[in-house]
Amino acid sequence: MIQEKERLCRNIEKREEIYSRISQKIWEYAELGFKEHRSAKLLQETLEREGFQVETGLAGIPTAFKGTFGSGGPVIAILGEFDALPGLSQKPGTDVQEKREDTDCGHGCGHNLLGTGSLAAAVAVREYLDRSGKPGTIIYFGCPGEEKGSGKTFMAREGCFKGLDAVFCWHPWDVNGLFASSSLADICATFIFHGKASHASASPHLGRSALDAVELMNVGCNFLREHVIPEARIHYAITNAGGNAANVVQETAAVYYEARAPRLNQAFEIFERICEVARGAAIMTGTSYEMVRGDGFSDYIPNKVLGKVLMENFQEAGAPAFDHADHELAEKIRDTFSEQMIQEAAAAVENQHGENAAAAMEGKVLADIVLPVNPLKSTMPGSTDVGDVSYQAPTGQILTACKAFGTPGHSWQEVSQSGSSIGKKGMLTAAKVMGMAAIDVFRNPKIAEDAKKEFDAAVRGGYHCPIPEEIKPDL
Ligand SMILES: [Zn+2]
Repeated sequence: MIQEKERLCRNIEKREEIYSRISQKIWEYAELGFKEHRSAKLLQETLEREGFQVETGLAGIPTAFKGTFGSGGPVIAILGEFDALPGLSQKPGTDVQEKREDTDCGHGCGHNLLGTGSLAAAVAVREYLDRSGKPGTIIYFGCPGEEKGSGKTFMAREGCFKGLDAVFCWHPWDVNGLFASSSLADICATFIFHGKASHASASPHLGRSALDAVELMNVGCNFLREHVIPEARIHYAITNAGGNAANVVQETAAVYYEARAPRLNQAFEIFERICEVARGAAIMTGTSYEMVRGDGFSDYIPNKVLGKVLMENFQEAGAPAFDHADHELAEKIRDTFSEQMIQEAAAAVENQHGENAAAAMEGKVLADIVLPVNPLKSTMPGSTDVGDVSYQAPTGQILTACKAFGTPGHSWQEVSQSGSSIGKKGMLTAAKVMGMAAIDVFRNPKIAEDAKKEFDAAVRGGYHCPIPEEIKPDL
């Protein structure tokens, strides 16, 4: 390992206690999306103390912020998240499901680690820039409302990530490796049908049922499902069934739709067909409808040049070194999983990292290896707002082991481990790998040039935000 990277790793290790404390505080706060005031403040104060210039209220969101250090290019950004999930209150570091008394929320996606690990990387890179005297800028982006709110999509809509040379991010996971998969673009909207109320028995001919329209729209979309690309997903939920009186023709009813596809333009195409089905349902039932767009996500475009840099450094830094106590806790937590959950985890590893990776993880409770990159292209069957960042700047993302293999996302088991030393070890590994990768980009600007070339080719059609201008973040 070159001396500069060794120094960077030592810098992170030296401040281990500080980062543990910050991540534990954010874990305790367990604030929901766009309400992460205390968590954001803690991160901002730390950045300011470290010499970063902090700007708050990005994209009109009070808890969105950035901390900038340095001047000139390359400009490298590291993304942090810090929002929790509702209904996941859980005590830390235990294999027993037990709620905390002081909150109903919990860090079931490990974003307390995510926000802090990225901060640790940014601070260590700042020290490198300071010492080396190299030109360059490091920016920490505080990205709120990931779980429900599409925070980064709103930030991207305002152009927050435009012009960055490289973006690095990570996510707590149950294995170590590159997030080389793409994800699905997602467009959401609510369709509200308006009919005429009437006595359903005495004068049904005078009524026009909005509920009929919702039902026919759903039937139409269920038939549509066969005639879209197989990777696409169409989901719906009836959000207003028009009341619970069967003897009244339902005047108003509403249904919420999501159209997902591997690329944003494909999702838009499918969404337009869904709108046509809604129009058809309104015509059939003599009702009218309005469509209210909601959140959305672009697909994630992993940048291969940045991915390669991340992987080289991940191999060098190695997997987190878990100790005996970590293994003991992980084993007890694993005892709470069903056999099917473990099989699902193996299938997910195979999808994301390839066949060899699944075999390599067999029998392991905590991931002590860095998995190879899947030679085949794969798509994660979900959506992330990092996708919108990847449409504005070359983006590379890693995963580090912060929980027992097979721990499902958004579970009490994950909340417990996000507040344990298992999570913190994975967090520091992520900080090192992202920081080392940033050093490579600062030392060799050709990396940024190559990443940009690849990026330009991948987003040739430009960026069309999946959230229209009139939709405001749900603060
Ligand atoms: Zn997450």
